[in-house]
Amino acid sequence: MLSLEQILFSQGFGTRRECRGLVLRGSFSVSGKILSDPEQELQEQGLVFSVDGQSWPYFEKAVIALNKPAGYECSARPVFHPVVLSLLPAPLRARGVQPVGRLDEDTTGLLILTDDGALSHRLTHPRKHVRKIYRAVLKHPLSPDFVQALLRGVVLRDEPQPLAALEVKPAGDREVEITVDQGRYHQVKRMVAAAGNRVEQLSRIQFGNYRLPQDVLPGQWCWIESAAAITGK
Ligand code: URA
Repeated sequence: MLSLEQILFSQGFGTRRECRGLVLRGSFSVSGKILSDPEQELQEQGLVFSVDGQSWPYFEKAVIALNKPAGYECSARPVFHPVVLSLLPAPLRARGVQPVGRLDEDTTGLLILTDDGALSHRLTHPRKHVRKIYRAVLKHPLSPDFVQALLRGVVLRDEPQPLAALEVKPAGDREVEITVDQGRYHQVKRMVAAAGNRVEQLSRIQFGNYRLPQDVLPGQWCWIESAAAITGK
């Protein structure tokens, strides 16, 4: 059990004092009923509460999926474009959610963010080989040689070993789905270039076992209720 003040504090709604103030002011409600005693305790697991009419599920750790639009940087210190975190509401930013790995500024699609450092480590550690599926629009039509080169492995500068795709699925004349289980810098674009083509548009459609729900439009995000949805464990 946590007090209302503790619940709001743990979910990124400000300092303890600010959270206390929100409750005292009547901003906090559960199932339409305003609860205004900051010391009142509630079972936090499975709780859905509202702050000023906006609904929030309680999660000890936040794990979310963002449909990243082009024109946003994943870097903590963005140089030329706004940071992806600016697409999220203040409480999530205040909790310190961070992207799990990075997508390039012009890459769109599934980006997972979390404040669970251990989960982020598990999802990005090279030895865990978490699969990522990208859909690429290419400059030149697909050829059997191109597909074979990606599956066999291509040599990239600064990489000691050739990198191979796990799966390459044609999805049109100039479109392809590429599955990889590493996460190197500009990996897909560099692999495609090394195989003799060029990526014109890139979008991530799957991370581990997780795919974005179709109703999450570019710039929107949703909660991932359990890390098992990503890892399959
Ligand atoms: N590979 C790339 O080249 N860019 C990305 O953003 C992700 C994977």
